[in-house]
Amino acid sequence: MLRQRRADHGYRQRRILEGPQQPEQVIDGRPVLAFCGNDYLGLAAHPAVVAAFKAGANRYGVGAGAAHLVNGHTRAHHRLEEALAAFTGRDRALLFSTGYMANLGVAQALLRRGDRVLQDRLNHASLIDAARISGARLQRYRHGDVDDLSRLLAQPAPQDTLVSTDGVFSMDGDIAPLAALADRSRQADAWFMVDDAHGLGVLGATGAGTLEALELDQTQVPLLMGTLGKALGTAGAFVAGSDDLIETLIQSARTYIYTTAMPAAVAEATLAALEVVHQEPERREYLHRLIRQFRTGAAELGLPLMDSTTPIQPLQVGHTLAATTLSEALLAQGLLVPAIRPPTVPPNTARLRVTLSAAHTPDQVDHLLTVLGRLYRSDS
Ligand code: PMP
Repeated sequence: MLRQRRADHGYRQRRILEGPQQPEQVIDGRPVLAFCGNDYLGLAAHPAVVAAFKAGANRYGVGAGAAHLVNGHTRAHHRLEEALAAFTGRDRALLFSTGYMANLGVAQALLRRGDRVLQDRLNHASLIDAARISGARLQRYRHGDVDDLSRLLAQPAPQDTLVSTDGVFSMDGDIAPLAALADRSRQADAWFMVDDAHGLGVLGATGAGTLEALELDQTQVPLLMGTLGKALGTAGAFVAGSDDLIETLIQSARTYIYTTAMPAAVAEATLAALEVVHQEPERREYLHRLIRQFRTGAAELGLPLMDSTTPIQPLQVGHTLAATTLSEALLAQGLLVPAIRPPTVPPNTARLRVTLSAAHTPDQVDHLLTVLGRLYRSDS
């Protein structure tokens, strides 16, 4: 298996980062300018967030020491759940230690054999794995294709149906047609869930995410999952929705019940990050200006942009070898942009996954464009 992976240019390799998530990093001992993280608002190393983390550790210690249902659920966790519910306009929110676990927990708690899950073909791996462990039957509809979903919904279903989709697709950066998906799900009496890992903090008038941007409330999207390790700069995740939903998850989601709570200091840091999101809308506006700058520049250079208005700006080059060669050439010029290849993305859609952050400067974006322009021309 390993030999085959190497031969297919699909071998995954880790690099060692010496400092915080920020554009200028030292990785594997060499300075680079990174366009690959998900710290979209530049909060992972924000002084107020770091200070809140330290204060949280001073007050609560480092480890939570127990699961939420034992005695790991601190005042900090509780306040964060209330703040996340208010932020997203839902009745309640429930913390999970990671987004991956949140997705597994929802599917396992709500579904069983005989139920079915309908998912966008490009959904994140954690949603696919969630469907698999739930025992329900997984069927996938064509990417962003509401009519294909309707076709599946029209097939007879013996029991319950859950429709789930990424809000912003993690490898493409485009936004799901959530209003129409919500409508069709409701007409078919199916649950509807949105994983807004990449929209939260970035989209919407107050940064509350894709649902805010599209003005969708809890009746239209009863299940919202958001992660804290991306735009909010910390770690962990939450599910938000009705009181009944949250109580059901507390009672039966195994990835909630049987695991240690996230450190309380992380909850304190996330509360501080939410405060920055509220107090500094200019971070979000600035990020969207950088996105426009990148897209305009890339279009002028004839780079293979995808249909995305979010900080995820992939350049689809097609063949795995083309993507890895470009990524390596960029690294030789001091730019860190990962190649994303099958099986993470469909065959022949290998890409460079450029991500932008409010921590980047316009000059850094220009520099990336200049180098990309040069390399892309010499490669194609
Ligand atoms: N959903 C999506 C769409 C993601 O991109 C990710 C993380 N890459 C996750 C879920 C998992 O979140 P976490 O990293 O908190 O496990």
